[in-house]
Amino acid sequence: MDVTQCSTPNKSAKGRMTKDITLAVIHYTGSENEQGAVSWFKNPDAKVSAHYVIARNGEVFQFETITAKLWHAGDSTWQGCKWCNGYSIGYEICGTYESGFTEEQYDSLRQLLLKDVESTAIDSIVGHEHIAPGRKIDPGPNFDWDRVRDWFDIDDHMKFIGGVPFVSKPEELAEEKEVVLAPNAGFSLEEVTVEINSGISEEEEKEEKRETATGFASFIVSIIKMLEKLF
Ligand SMILES: [Zn+2]
Repeated sequence: MDVTQCSTPNKSAKGRMTKDITLAVIHYTGSENEQGAVSWFKNPDAKVSAHYVIARNGEVFQFETITAKLWHAGDSTWQGCKWCNGYSIGYEICGTYESGFTEEQYDSLRQLLLKDVESTAIDSIVGHEHIAPGRKIDPGPNFDWDRVRDWFDIDDHMKFIGGVPFVSKPEELAEEKEVVLAPNAGFSLEEVTVEINSGISEEEEKEEKRETATGFASFIVSIIKMLEKLF
């Protein structure tokens, strides 16, 4: 992995300790050309920056060390903690909503994440979209979160990857730790993952639809009443 060291004026005056870094935030730059992001982060008028820019060929531009508080997250919240810049590292991958990302980029991201998780207290890897929902959409649906999940196991103490709780694979763990899983332990990994990913249960979904239907009915009634007053 080729790393070019860069610096940026767009950072907070005070840094932080590695033990206070608990979050990794994945972004896309919005362009496949890295030069735009690299020069923008060096520009004091930009007021934005990130720790890494990962070019399409996998080359990494590192802005400052991970203890610098850089400005990639903006107005954001994770697990009830506002302003994620203070406790996160920003990874900008060159690409757009549609472009997807290259093998070389995933390889560099993997190396950076493994190194940073090892040296900090990072327990969650999320997208900008997860900490600023409604405001940000990166890295978007073409980013392969399953790959990132494959890079970690239970010993890495990861709580969330891609905005959902991290469930490591029971079969692999059994192999590694020589623990024998009871056959038909009551659930399969697929079932657990589906449960977590869906977020909203079928019952809740029905409830929501009922509420919408009632809301619409009362809206019609109020229109009729208004018309009655007029005529
Ligand atoms: Zn972003």
